[in-house]
Amino acid sequence: MDLAIASGVAAGEAAEAARAAGGMSGANLRAYEAALRRRNVLTDLETFRKAPLYLKNPRLFDVYPRLLIELAQRVYEVDGSGKGRILDAVLGESKVEGLSKLTMLRDLLRGARSM
Ligand SMILES: Cc1cc2nc3c(=O)[nH]c(=O)nc-3n(C[C@H](O)[C@H](O)[C@H](O)COP(=O)(O)OP(=O)(O)OC[C@H]3O[C@@H](n4cnc5c(N)ncnc54)[C@H](O)[C@@H]3O)c2cc1C
Repeated sequence: MDLAIASGVAAGEAAEAARAAGGMSGANLRAYEAALRRRNVLTDLETFRKAPLYLKNPRLFDVYPRLLIELAQRVYEVDGSGKGRILDAVLGESKVEGLSKLTMLRDLLRGARSM
């Protein structure tokens, strides 16, 4: 929502500047792009341009949230049993989900690269 609001403000500023300069000509409205850049709308969209493709990965909305819930339960549940290493818990849960280490690593790296 922040980018949408900032683009609305930029559009208002550009329209006001164009009106003051004599009308809504292409030349007068060119200030819009500069306003989008000044308010970081275009720069943010450029920075995160790979994110939409990454977010198409269905595992992000299905497998990983389930895995995180299971992990949190294992780590925080007070049931008198000793706690194992978190990495072992991650690997154990990923096995339950049928997720290979390679897939997890790839998803992690792609996420880091896209965001
Ligand atoms: C992948 C992606 C993800 C984004 N995610 C977010 C987000 O999570 N949060 C956020 O705040 N913002 C997000 N944004 C940015 C947000 O979409 C824009 O900031 C916002 O849509 C800009 O609103 P607008 O009304 O100025 O332009 P637009 O929503 O682009 O609307 C312009 C409209 O004008 C029409 N149009 C263009 N030329 C003409 C013409 N010559 N004649 C008639 N109609 C025309 C277009 O068809 C379009 O319907 C995202 C953008 C992208 C691309």
